[in-house]
Parts: sequence; structure tokens; C-alpha cells
Amino acid sequence: MVARQLRRRGIRDSRVLAAMSRVPREAFVPAASRHRAYDDGALPLGHGQTISQPYVVAAMCELLELRGDERVLEVGTGSGYAAAVLDELAALVVSVEVIPELAATARVALVETGHADVEVRTGDGSLGDACESFDAILVSAAAPELPALLVERLADGGRLVCPVGPPSGQRLVFVERRGDQTTTTAGLRCRFVPLRGVAGHPD
Ligand code: SAH
Repeated sequence: MVARQLRRRGIRDSRVLAAMSRVPREAFVPAASRHRAYDDGALPLGHGQTISQPYVVAAMCELLELRGDERVLEVGTGSGYAAAVLDELAALVVSVEVIPELAATARVALVETGHADVEVRTGDGSLGDACESFDAILVSAAAPELPALLVERLADGGRLVCPVGPPSGQRLVFVERRGDQTTTTAGLRCRFVPLRGVAGHPD
């Protein structure tokens, strides 16, 4: 997976490549799809949700340029796979999931794979928490517009990646904060399940 799907497509960050070779993806995939755990695509998780394609997880993590001492927020825990990869790359990971059953399954898989330090919260992660700031924020579901409340949660020098656009297809948007200024760049075309909640798509 690392050689064919990631390196060959241009993922260069050696920490991301090493992290993705360490995290056992099969531990995060439902039993019925386990034989397809290393397929080059998204897989069903139940509850209408999907575990993201490995390449997309790698591309998002690479944009965050994590060096090991960051506080990271993920919105949309899903299976917990991306949270496990982030845990390999950063100091602290908080991941928020709106579907309680998925949060519970993800917690088990994270503990089983040695990522018990990841804090999985249940609720609407599109809100952010006014008392917290993060060096990196990864949104794992498609927002109709860039979620302003999450951009506000970025620390100085912080980076955010979020798929932005309609459910039919999005661009991976990258935001970097420098003091009071933020710069926003739209990149890779992608297709995520819709973000729900205050900053999400209506149900
Ligand atoms: N990163 C995940 C993929 C998640 S799919 C993985 O590696 O498996 C997107 C997830 O976002 C779904 O589980 C969905 O329930 C969740 N989600 C959607 N809107 C949300 C919101 N407002 N807050 C928290 N989680 C949300």
C-alpha cells in the first residue's frame, strides 16, 4: 500500500509513510470488508459512513506537516484509522464523532492498536470548543463551506485541511494561520461523506 498507493503518487513525507506502514488498517475495517482493508479506495463502515482511501489520509496528513509536538483535532473519527495515523505523527490527538456507535467501535480499535492516548469525543465536531486551540485540524467529512468556527480554533502557525463542496464532490482546502492572517488554498479533488451539525450539510 505504501509503495504502490502512496509513494508512487507523490507522498514524500517520510514520517507519514512510516506512520502509515505501522498502523494496521485491517483493525479499523469491519469484519465483512477486512479482506479489502488495503484496497485503493474508501470502504463502508456502516451507518452510511466510510473509512477514507489510504492515499487521501496520507495527502491530508502530509499537508499538516506534523513534526511530533503538535496538538491535533480531527472532526469525524469514523473507524478511528486516520486518528491512529495522526497519533503516530503528533503529541496529542482529540477526535470527535457524531455517531456514538462509531465512536465506541473506534475507541476499541484505537486501544487494540496501541493508540489509547487518542481522546475520542462524541458530539458535533464542526463547532470546535471555544476554550481550545490546535496546531493542526483535519476534517474528515465534506463541509458546504469552510467551517469558520474551526478556523478560529487554529493556533498561530496552525494548519487545517477540510474537504469543501457539495456531497457530489469537493476540493481539499488547506488553511494556514499566521497571527491574525489566514491563507486558504484549494487543492486535490476528493469525495467525502457529508459533514453534519452546525457547519455541515442539512440531514
Ligand atoms: N477519518 C475517518 C473517516 C470518517 S468518515 C476514518 O479514518 O475512518 C466521516 C465521519 O464523520 C463519519 O463517521 C461521520 O459520522 C462523521 N461526522 C459527520 N459530521 C460530523 C460532525 N459534525 N461532528 C463529528 N463527526 C461528524
